[in-house]
Amino acid sequence: MTERLRLGISECLLGRKVRWDGGHKHDRYLTDTLGEWVEWVPTCPEVEIGLGTPRPPIRIVATGKGDRLVVRKTGEDITGRMTAWAEQALEGFAGVDGFVLKKDSPSCGMERVRRHHGDQQVTRDGRGVFAAALLERYPLLPVEEEGRLNDPGLREHFVARVFAYRRWKDFLATGPSAGALVAFHAANKMALHSHHPGEYRALGRLVAGAGTTGLGALLDEYGTAMMHLLRHRATRKRHTDVLQHLAGHLKKEIDAEDRAELAELIESYRQGVVPLVVPLTMLRHHARRHGSEWLRSQTYLQPYPDELMLRNHV
Ligand code: SF4
Repeated sequence: MTERLRLGISECLLGRKVRWDGGHKHDRYLTDTLGEWVEWVPTCPEVEIGLGTPRPPIRIVATGKGDRLVVRKTGEDITGRMTAWAEQALEGFAGVDGFVLKKDSPSCGMERVRRHHGDQQVTRDGRGVFAAALLERYPLLPVEEEGRLNDPGLREHFVARVFAYRRWKDFLATGPSAGALVAFHAANKMALHSHHPGEYRALGRLVAGAGTTGLGALLDEYGTAMMHLLRHRATRKRHTDVLQHLAGHLKKEIDAEDRAELAELIESYRQGVVPLVVPLTMLRHHARRHGSEWLRSQTYLQPYPDELMLRNHV
């Protein structure tokens, strides 16, 4: 990866005072840790449509004509303003590698946003109007809410998807041949396998058919299927399978003592005694010294910078 990641973000998460009450929702993990690798592309949809700061709060109201975005005090329906703005503003996010949204917001919230049914009943099954437009326009884009990123597993999953998406786009930018796609798939084999073995095999069948389909269509189909696959979270069991598979590629290269030590660490990980980083560090050590080119090329071994320490917590 040559340049920093570009991630869209709900602007209040950067600490800017754009919320309805004049405040912000600064998220230190995003700015201070992930921010080291990211160029943020911020937006505050409510400010952008001219509501100002501070402003009267708005909410989602469920009606017979679908969900509407409404100013609580006056009842003004601003859905049209928001969707019209989003339609043109989303063009500006065409090149981003992912998006972090503010949870619970009637504009930015991705899920479980409050929906008001009349004055009495409220359900938590709504989606912010801007978030809905974003997800519809860019269905493959990795998108997550900052609240969910407090969960180490969801955080690792999101960042892995973002880096994978970026690798894919960088790959496409090289003007790849069918042969290059085969090599790309081979290098990502274990990373993809850890998310969903069945869908990984389907991707393999797609690549095997390279040459029978037009290259443009093949790349489109592969990219879509790969990003769908990556929506599945890698489980402890799948990581264990992948680690054992990779260790198998070293069985002739390392001695019995090292093999036993590696197997023990993988088993400790399987049992939840140590985090993923422990067997993985040992595996990488052996792969670097004794591994085949194929083994050393696996993006699974280092899908994102170690400094993010994401595999220390899963
Ligand atoms: S949640 Fe979205 S609309 Fe609300 S202040 Fe943050 S960026 Fe603006």
